[in-house]
Amino acid sequence: MSRLDETGAGLPDTFGRVAKDLRVSLTDRCNLRCTYCMPAEGLDWLPRPEMLTDDELVRVVDIFTQLGVHSVRLTGGEPLLRRGLPDIVRRFAELEHAPRIAMTTNGIGLDRLAGPLADAGLERINVSLDTIDPERFKELTRRDRFADVERGIKAAQDAGLKPVKINAVAMHDPHGKDNPAELLQWCLDRGLELRFIEQMPLDAGHTWERQKMFTGRELQELLGERFSLSPMPDEARGSAPAELFLVDGGPATVGLIASVTAPFCAACDRVRLTADGQVRNCLFARDENDLRGPLRAGATDEELADVIRANMLAKRRGHGIGEPDFKQPDRPMSAIGG
Ligand code: SAM
Ligand code: SF4
Repeated sequence: MSRLDETGAGLPDTFGRVAKDLRVSLTDRCNLRCTYCMPAEGLDWLPRPEMLTDDELVRVVDIFTQLGVHSVRLTGGEPLLRRGLPDIVRRFAELEHAPRIAMTTNGIGLDRLAGPLADAGLERINVSLDTIDPERFKELTRRDRFADVERGIKAAQDAGLKPVKINAVAMHDPHGKDNPAELLQWCLDRGLELRFIEQMPLDAGHTWERQKMFTGRELQELLGERFSLSPMPDEARGSAPAELFLVDGGPATVGLIASVTAPFCAACDRVRLTADGQVRNCLFARDENDLRGPLRAGATDEELADVIRANMLAKRRGHGIGEPDFKQPDRPMSAIGG
């Protein structure tokens, strides 16, 4: 129990869910331009004065951990672009109610940073990689950086980060170069845990179409042509979004995150903090609550905790994709923190 949460209720919403997992966006900038996320020309980046400083970030994360959050995932934009990242990680790891710290990254620069980050207290890492074909990588990310990502993944393993997971967005490849089974084999050969995620309507260009989606079920069928996939019991899943399958009898697994066709909203324990200090109760939330304003105006921890609690109480039952009144959030994935 902490001084901000004397009843131990934590951060409940009105549907019986309690937030435990905080996604912190460290920057909205990125060095890739993945087609399902950002336009080729990039976006209007947040002006620096609008971004939380390191001290502000540490204070806000401290408040979240006092309210029962026990894991923090660093994301963005590209979190490795945040200056002084190992120091931020170390300061999170030294908090009184220290959270478990994980990161989602595109892997560029990880060859240099994996060791310092592991030393600072980073435990787990997800590297996003959709293809092992360098040409297709270039097409998808609009940058010729496949080799950097490959080096980054190796460095993460060498630094002892465990597990190293690979996140891939499930996509139909118009030129037939992409093969999810090849990506899975590549991961199995390297001891990497692969998770596919369905593409969501969060691209800056608002081009997502439900009919064009490659669904988790289609992917399962495709992978099933080459591997034997046996479902793991649901207890292995908990509040984690991935449906897990043992590959060829295990112990290796592959995960399918069917966020659109089989949403895991009922078990969601996430809350998000944007790089400019807004708290969001869902990726698809249309409203945010401002923490940066009150924080800079001298609010107490208790007042900031009230803003966070109020945001959680407004969390909707589900993301509503496919429902008639669904509206894609104004901010794209990179500005929310994926
Ligand atoms: N730049 C880092 C990276 O790529 O891992 C962190 C931020 S990125 C927004 C986080 C994750 O969101 C990545 O795994 C990325 O593939 C995924 N993502 C981005 N846009 C998406 C979309 N429209 N649908 C599903 N996943 C998406
Ligand atoms: Fe950058 Fe990650 Fe978005 Fe790709 S998915 S453009 S790496 S933020």
